[in-house]
Amino acid sequence: MPRIHVVATGGTIAGAQAVPGGHGYAAGAFTVDALLAAVPDLAGIAHVSAEQLVNIGSQDMNDRVWLTLARRLEQLAASDDVDGIVVTHGTDTMEETAWFAHLTVRTTKPLVFVGSMRPATALGADGPANLRDAVALAADPAASGRGVLVVLNDTIHGARDAYKLHASRVDAFRSPERGPLGRFEGGRPCFTLPPLAAGQGSFPLGDAQALPLVFILYAHASMGRELIDAALAAGAAGLVIAGVGNGNMTDPALDALQEAAARGVAVVRSTRLPEGAVLRNGEVDDDARGFIAAREFKPGKARVLLQLALLSSRDPKALQEVFDQA
Ligand code: ASP
Repeated sequence: MPRIHVVATGGTIAGAQAVPGGHGYAAGAFTVDALLAAVPDLAGIAHVSAEQLVNIGSQDMNDRVWLTLARRLEQLAASDDVDGIVVTHGTDTMEETAWFAHLTVRTTKPLVFVGSMRPATALGADGPANLRDAVALAADPAASGRGVLVVLNDTIHGARDAYKLHASRVDAFRSPERGPLGRFEGGRPCFTLPPLAAGQGSFPLGDAQALPLVFILYAHASMGRELIDAALAAGAAGLVIAGVGNGNMTDPALDALQEAAARGVAVVRSTRLPEGAVLRNGEVDDDARGFIAAREFKPGKARVLLQLALLSSRDPKALQEVFDQA
């Protein structure tokens, strides 16, 4: 029987409604033992052990928890007593944490993130089924060497491409650029795409105690330089712009960012659109302005990648290579 370890961090999967059947609820109300107890046939799939790392809504996720989580996952992955790992997590920032884990944790063992869109007390709660699928996925040798995976709603995504694209539906996650890696059929994982494990563990954390400060700024009509200046005054090492269209923005914003780049701040052009890659030197002359094009990475994932890349280089050319190859 495969030995699967569950690391719980909170989220709606552990959420409880104030009024049964009501709309409002608090994330992170149940512990991991209660979550596991709600899945009837788990003991038939794997020997499951568990720990509670934190119990928070993932809107409150932060660099400190990421560093702790990544180091714990490394430890577990290196253990001869663990065949696969499941992380329960809120869905709001799962696309960021799973990507962070993918980039920092070196392992070929299955490492699966799971959450739910409905709290544990809701009618039709999706948490128990998703958790069951996550354990089954982590227990399946076919899931090894595929990079960090995300599973919800019978669908298997790669951490590189998974985004939350709906605020409430159980099919909230999509992989807009490359499609999901597979699905569940009859309770078993079925992969439909080859592994996308490239880059897994390519940013070892070493003894890093903190991550560089990187902000995301959202472009819009009439965008000025005010928030760019505020981010610089706050000490930003990098800025990710959720640009309009192909990573575009107003001239005043471009000029303020060019000044920032000249001062050694990494400026990454991403897009506020849910699909499509931002290409280098499209309508913006990245070469002349010293910018980096985010390629397929939407702002949340671009920020994670930039934080990790900035641990070893501030050179825009080297940073662009990171985005080209990730
Ligand atoms: N706000 C919740 C969280 O991210 C939403 C969820 O888990 O679905 O923790």
